[in-house]
Amino acid sequence: MQDYEYLLSSLDKIKGIGNKTIQLFLRKKIKTIFDLLWHLPISKIETSKTTDIKDLQLGKTQSIKLTPLKYNFPRVRKLPNKVNCMSSGEKIDCIFFNSYEGYIKKILPINQKVIVFGKIGYYKSKYQITNPKLISETEDGLIKDIKNYSLTEGLTITKYNKIIEDVFKAIPTLKEWHNEKLLKKFNNARWNESIKKIHSYDYEKLKNSHYLRRLIFDEIFANFLISSQIRLKIKKIKKKKKLFNDQIKNKYLQKLEFELTVDQKNAIKDIEKDLKSKERMFRLIQGDVGSGKTIVSLISALNTIKSGYQVAFMVPTEILAKQHFNFSSNFFDSSIKIELLSGKVDYSNKKKIIKDLENKKIDLIIGTHSLFQKKIKFKKLGLIIIDEQHKFGVNQRKELSEKGGNDCDVLVMSATPIPRTMMMTIYGDMDITLIKDKPKNRKEIKTYSKLDSKINEIINFANKEIQNGNQIFWVCPLIEKSNKLDQQSAVEKNKFLQKYFNNRVGLIHGSIEKDKKNKVLNDFLNKKIDVLVSTTVIEVGIDFPNATVIVIENANKYGLSQLHQLRGRVGRGNKESTCILIFNSNLSQNAKKRINILKNLSDGFDISEEDMKLRGYGDILGFKQSGLKKFKLADPILHRDLFELAEAEVKKIEINNSSLGNYYNLLKLYDRASIINDII
Ligand code: ADP
Ligand code: MG
Repeated sequence: MQDYEYLLSSLDKIKGIGNKTIQLFLRKKIKTIFDLLWHLPISKIETSKTTDIKDLQLGKTQSIKLTPLKYNFPRVRKLPNKVNCMSSGEKIDCIFFNSYEGYIKKILPINQKVIVFGKIGYYKSKYQITNPKLISETEDGLIKDIKNYSLTEGLTITKYNKIIEDVFKAIPTLKEWHNEKLLKKFNNARWNESIKKIHSYDYEKLKNSHYLRRLIFDEIFANFLISSQIRLKIKKIKKKKKLFNDQIKNKYLQKLEFELTVDQKNAIKDIEKDLKSKERMFRLIQGDVGSGKTIVSLISALNTIKSGYQVAFMVPTEILAKQHFNFSSNFFDSSIKIELLSGKVDYSNKKKIIKDLENKKIDLIIGTHSLFQKKIKFKKLGLIIIDEQHKFGVNQRKELSEKGGNDCDVLVMSATPIPRTMMMTIYGDMDITLIKDKPKNRKEIKTYSKLDSKINEIINFANKEIQNGNQIFWVCPLIEKSNKLDQQSAVEKNKFLQKYFNNRVGLIHGSIEKDKKNKVLNDFLNKKIDVLVSTTVIEVGIDFPNATVIVIENANKYGLSQLHQLRGRVGRGNKESTCILIFNSNLSQNAKKRINILKNLSDGFDISEEDMKLRGYGDILGFKQSGLKKFKLADPILHRDLFELAEAEVKKIEINNSSLGNYYNLLKLYDRASIINDII
């Protein structure tokens, strides 16, 4: 048996533990002994002495000797169960919420002295203990202090403590996976010792202890190591080098009205190096909204096409697909055949596109998810570009990398900046290029907050902008009016605003049909309308350089990064732009903080850092949906140094091409993804 196997085995390996107890643990998603070890105690209970009823302190968790006298189990479901008891001649009640009668009778048998502990309260001139737990039926049980675990329904706290102790005795001593030098940073704390220590509840002492830090490090390190191994594995697959020269690229770049920024040039360099190499590219371009990623990706497409390959460009929405299609059709000359594959394309056209892709009559295909349907085959796919897909998880990306065939490179672009410490956690399986600088002509976007009662001022301001030839986005959280939610709806707002802006107002939202939507967007682009009322469908990617004002209704309903994305819809040309956040008067403290952050910061990376501090890392940027695993202990805010250390250590392993043999147990324990089997 391998060392890790005991830890990954199910709970019935623990002696004396029955099916009933196993079920109790399962309810808390504790399946293996390893899971059990991460269910840490919530407090320590001083059981070496009980407290006399005279000395009870309200609000404290204390243990007391008492004798149950009478059960009160009301038939009304919401009322708690109550047991009247006596202690040293005084009355005291035990109150139970959500507990089975059978369980209560078992731990508090009538007329028997028992020792329980729980939070002390006082109600109608009587002491009461809420959801008390049984420590012991006799005083012999009171030998030493025990730990309070949050799961004890149906399981006495003494039994729970015994299970943990048995497990501690049975854990095999794991062979150390870290080297001496690293281990010294944690004062040589071993895994076995550490896991025991973190159960000895004393949080203040533990917080900065080497034991806890070592375990946190292990968790981060294992996560990073797996990502880095996936990346290396993708690169091991050799592909044909792509061959192209700078002339064609330069010809196109000269056509642009602007000069590329330093970071754009560097990004193109990184990608060209990848395309020309024998190793497959799996690269992320991370650049804030408006940093000009599109042109970087089109140059990469150009290089790939000129080396004789096809390119698939995938975007999250039809609107964006259309926009990229228009832009690239303008940008490229007729030597490059471009098609748009969207839901709108009719059947016979679609059939033709599919056929043309198979015969390589199309060089660049732009579309939504539909590009990855099985029936779509490429003659010679050389590059997949994915725009704005920050919600992909590691596993989805791994699948994607396998999709195009061996010669296919992958370029992912994201406009969702993430805090530095999270970069490796989320994108450790990719090579990363950052675009940090903005095009020179960009002006800072002025951000204001306004109460909804000041709507007239906002309309006046918007009217002035329109007179200067500018356009306005007006964003509402809801499509239709809702009776339940006190929030603005796009449909109502559209009606309302028509009269103020001479009926030059358009409306788009998720349930408007495509033809209509496209017409409105075109009208906006061609300045037939001045105001575009919408839901957050405009959040991703769309580029209307002539829009200079974005008004966001019920701005407190959005997260910081979403507001930042929305704000990024303006300020894309060279004119002064404005973002107006509308609120109603009763804002929470947290909402006020968020607005201030947004007013004071313009860099997406800085904002994401602050967002993480406010909301915790689990909530950042909608990464919840990405399947990003929550760490058990590690927190990028508290343990920033350990994230950095782990990143450096993993880099060393990559550079030295070290064997992973030592880390076998670690990887098995900390990540049971199927990925491991094919990397070790
Ligand atoms: P994003 O990175 O958000 O995808 P886009 O690629 O859509 O940004 O670029 C936003 C706007 O900036 C576009 O209108 C684009 O033509 C323009 N742009 C891109 N690069 C530059 C540059 N170096 N100088 C000036 N404008 C640029
Ligand atoms: Mg974009």
